[in-house]
Amino acid sequence: MKLESLEDLFVHHLQDIYSAEKQITRELPKMAKATSSPDLEKAFTKHLKETENQIKRLEKVFKQLDRSPGRKKCKGMEGLLEEGASLIEEEPEENVLDAGLISSAQRVEHYEISAYGTAIAWAELLGYDVAIGLLEQSLEEESAANEKLNALAEGGINQEALEPASVE
Ligand code: FE
Ligand code: ZN
Ligand code: FE
Repeated sequence: MKLESLEDLFVHHLQDIYSAEKQITRELPKMAKATSSPDLEKAFTKHLKETENQIKRLEKVFKQLDRSPGRKKCKGMEGLLEEGASLIEEEPEENVLDAGLISSAQRVEHYEISAYGTAIAWAELLGYDVAIGLLEQSLEEESAANEKLNALAEGGINQEALEPASVE
């Protein structure tokens, strides 16, 4: 598709986010399974549900614009998620893994926060009022997820990774 207008670029951008969210729903369960922290597991599981809703919101926006979600692949998200997956494959000490999982997840959230921020700015310029509301709800969830991860890291998980591994 040739991008002739900001509207085309907006749709293109939403298709990218749509792909990113879909990829995230495949990785979050693996991250929830990999952590040994019940709080972190809960945060991942909760965000999985939110992510599923975010996908539905995007589908609503596409429907309203009478455009298709397309089959674009978000390579940025693919790369971020691959890095997270390869960390798990290295089988780090469990506290070290938890600190690393938070780091990976926060990079994902920041990417999404940036993507939704741009989408909202363009939706405002284009006058797509319903899209703005839907995208803002998702942006709020991404910000809250990022803050929750920050709180978990600073509330003990980073400190536990600093301490020597417990002998069992
Ligand atoms: Fe998301
Ligand atoms: Zn992307
Ligand atoms: Fe997210």
